[in-house]
Amino acid sequence: MTGTPGTPWSERSVIVTGGTRGIGRGIAELFARQGSQVVLTGRDARTAEKVADDLARSTGGRVSGLALDLRDPEAIEAMAAETEERHGHVDVLCANAGIFPEKPLREMTSGDIDEVLAVNLRGTMLAVRACLPTMERTGYGRVVLTSSITGPTTGFPGWSHYGASKAGQLGFLRSAAVELAPHRITVNAVLPGNIRTEGLEAMGEGYLRQMTSAIPLGRLGETSDVAHAVLFLASDQAAYITGQTITVDGGQTLPESGNSPTTGP
Ligand code: NAP
Repeated sequence: MTGTPGTPWSERSVIVTGGTRGIGRGIAELFARQGSQVVLTGRDARTAEKVADDLARSTGGRVSGLALDLRDPEAIEAMAAETEERHGHVDVLCANAGIFPEKPLREMTSGDIDEVLAVNLRGTMLAVRACLPTMERTGYGRVVLTSSITGPTTGFPGWSHYGASKAGQLGFLRSAAVELAPHRITVNAVLPGNIRTEGLEAMGEGYLRQMTSAIPLGRLGETSDVAHAVLFLASDQAAYITGQTITVDGGQTLPESGNSPTTGP
């Protein structure tokens, strides 16, 4: 059975939400390079299919695209069903898609809060739930969430709703990990620091310079830095790890004093 441990990457079926750019694209690319069957999602079907085609060409792997808006619970169910239809099963869910709009708390509306929680927290939870039937059937599953240092570890002005959503993901992860362990489904998370993506670059040069100066390893992260941590947590070698996190931040959250880091998103 393809769901059993020891199965090569080439027989693994992987979903990467938010795979059209940034960290998700990096994750999809790394799985494609291992030979896995990858479905990547974005809100627009044509964009997702185009990125999938590009990755399939550049990696020689098997990648397809799928439209998914995480605000839509029915679309999330459809994502799992469609992937099962394409691959026969789902082994790995990389629940990566997320948004980080900046808004001071004083100006934050309930709509702003709902939007961030709907995509980052409720969308993550529903994506995991949607993949459970196929994972339970095969008795194998790897869920890797893309959380953040912001919320679980640090704070940043303008991202209180975002921080709440990312910390909330970890509260979800711990209970889900215990609940799903009997099915041999593990649930873990990566906590990126400042990773060079389109989303981060939109914060502007000043922000990027400030962040870089606060990172002990002296550079922003690359999407591949996060992708390798995700690949490990999705591997057979990580079979005995569940409910845990790996911080991928170049040491940004370590300094106790002096050039103390400021962080986000
Ligand atoms: P990004 O470059 O802005 O990419 C975001 C991805 O999410 C895109 O593929 C986008 O696809 C998708 N997406 C946006 N809204 C969506 C929605 N409503 N439903 C479904 N998909 C949606 O972001 P990134 O920097 O790669 O961040 C990816 C994840 O890492 C997020 O969860 C973020 O919180 C986390 N993170 C990032 C950093 C960082 O430094 N970059 C640090 C910590 C954590 P379409 O636009 O094609 O729909």
